[in-house]
Parts: sequence; C-alpha cells; structure tokens
Amino acid sequence: MLISLIVPCYNEEGSLPILYEALCDVRKAESETDPDKCFEFIFVNDGSRDKTASIIKEFAANDKSVKYVFFSRNFGKEAAMYAGMQKAKGDYIAILDADMQDPPSLIPQMIKDLDSGEYDIVAARRVTREGEPKIRSWFARRFYKLINRMCDVEIADGARDFRLMKREVVDAILSLNERQRFSKGIFAWVGFRTKWVEHVNVERVAGETKWSFWKLFRYAIDGIVAFTTAPLRIATYAGFFFAFAGFVYMLYYFIRAIIEQIWDHVAGYPSLLCFILFLGGLILMALGLIGEYIGRIYIESKARPIYITSEESKD
Ligand code: UDP
Ligand code: MG
Repeated sequence: MLISLIVPCYNEEGSLPILYEALCDVRKAESETDPDKCFEFIFVNDGSRDKTASIIKEFAANDKSVKYVFFSRNFGKEAAMYAGMQKAKGDYIAILDADMQDPPSLIPQMIKDLDSGEYDIVAARRVTREGEPKIRSWFARRFYKLINRMCDVEIADGARDFRLMKREVVDAILSLNERQRFSKGIFAWVGFRTKWVEHVNVERVAGETKWSFWKLFRYAIDGIVAFTTAPLRIATYAGFFFAFAGFVYMLYYFIRAIIEQIWDHVAGYPSLLCFILFLGGLILMALGLIGEYIGRIYIESKARPIYITSEESKD
C-alpha cells in the first residue's frame, strides 16, 4: 500500500529540513509496524524565491521516494495542492503544510483510522487560535458563521487543509477542475465520511505566514462567491422591499392629497436626496455583486490551466 504525502512549499527553506526529518520518522515508525506500507513524498514548489528548490532536489537525490513538481511562478497554495494530488499515486493521500503547523506526528493515527474502514477522510481541525491576532480570529469566526448560513455544504470552523484521504476522495476532488479553487469548500462539497481530529494551534517553525489580513479577506469573499449565489438574492429582496415601500408611499400621498386637497408638494428636498443616495448606493452595490460573479465566469471561461510546471521529477 502506497501513501502519498503532499507538501505545498512557498519560500520554506527554513522549515523544509525539519519537516523532512519528521516525515522520515513517520515513515520509519510506520514501516516498522507494517512493512506493507510504502511512502512517497511530493513536494510542490510554488515558485519560491529562496533555496526551497535546491533543498527539494537534494532530498530527491538521496531519497527515491521524494517526488517534486516545480511551478513556473507562484500560483498559490490551492494550485499547489491540486498539482500534488494529480501527481500522487497513493491509495491514501495526505496534504500537509511545510511549516510544521500540521503536525506530522498525527499521520500514523490518521492511517489507522482509514485502515479501520469506517472513514474515507481524516481531517485535522484546530480548536484554538492562539498565537493569532485577536481581530483575525474574530473575522474568521464571523466568516464561518456567514458562509455556513448561505451554503448548502457545512464548512467546519478551524478546519485545516491537513487531511488524509482515500483515493476515491482525491479523484472526486480532482474532478472539480475549476480554476478559482476554494479547497475548504471543495473538501466539504465532495462529501464522504469524515473523521475530525482536533489539535491545538501550532506556530510555524521558521519563516512567516504568507497571509496578510487583506489576502485573507479576499479569500473569504472568493469562498463565498465560489460556493453560493445567495448574495445575488440580496438585490432581488431589496428590490421587492423598496418597490413595495414606494408603492405604499405613493398611495399614502395620493390619498392625503385628495383628503387635504393639496396638489403641489414642493417641500421634501433633503428626504428626496437621501432616498436617491441610498437607492443609488444599493444599486451600485448590487451591480458590484453581479460583477463579482461575472468576473469569475470570465476567468473560468478562459479555461487556463491551474498551474504551469517548469520542472518535474520522473516517476
Ligand atoms: N503556500 C504555497 N503557496 C503560497 C502560499 C503558501 O504553497 O502561495 C504553502 C506554504 O509553503 C505552506 C502552506 O502553503 O506550506 C501554508 O502557508 P502558510 O503557513 O503561509 O499559511 P498559514 O499556515 O498561515 O495559514
Ligand atoms: Mg502555516
């Protein structure tokens, strides 16, 4: 039985040697308990600017089970995970970060859980967000509340991309070949029986996170737009509401005009302006929302590849 471990790497020269050692420990322990289990390590270099590439090549030179894919530039972690899954030949396939935030020590237990046959996926979920800016945790929690209210699929708060999956699951994920990939949603969308293992937040061993607040914010919007069309309905509902309110207002004035016999209303300039500004804002917002979706249709319709490879290990 082959187990593939996929590691997306972007500027990870500091963490890679530590991770590789940990992976070798897992392999050693696992093959001692069950000699039937073989491993392949797939490193996807997502256009790093540091020594990541040469470190990976060095691993590959000394270790036959190290495979790699190098991207021609930085395509993002989503693309790196996709490339890794395409390359993986294992019966079980895991994805883990290079920075040790996804503890490799959990892998043996995950393998056992899949072996039991009760689950198709074992996924990690962090139950604390210590070491993370407070404001970021707050926004993250709001995001999960919001997206879960709008989407049909349940996206677990704190779920990481760290997971061990059976072949069938990975094939299902690969069959979703959209360009704007939001993995947290894709993982939930394909379904299968998932076991959650919980762990506390671990800080990265070296280097720094590639996520700024704004990148995360864009990512959240991308996730919502990718997985639900619910926001489009806001415009419809608001439209109904204002049309109805306008109608009632009209009736009211009409009846009042008849009763009071006043036919020339010229006052009300500020209220008129407020209404115009408010409605204009709403209309622009609705247009922007539609634009978000159209933009994505445009990008998908170009059907560009998800990543470009510059170099790859031979199988
Ligand atoms: N990563 C990647 N491409 C990117 C950004 C990140 O392959 O454009 C990898 C990175 O090397 C790491 C993982 O994705 O292995 C998670 O990145 P990071 O630790 O920066 O994210 P965080 O853990 O802070 O969410
Ligand atoms: Mg990290």
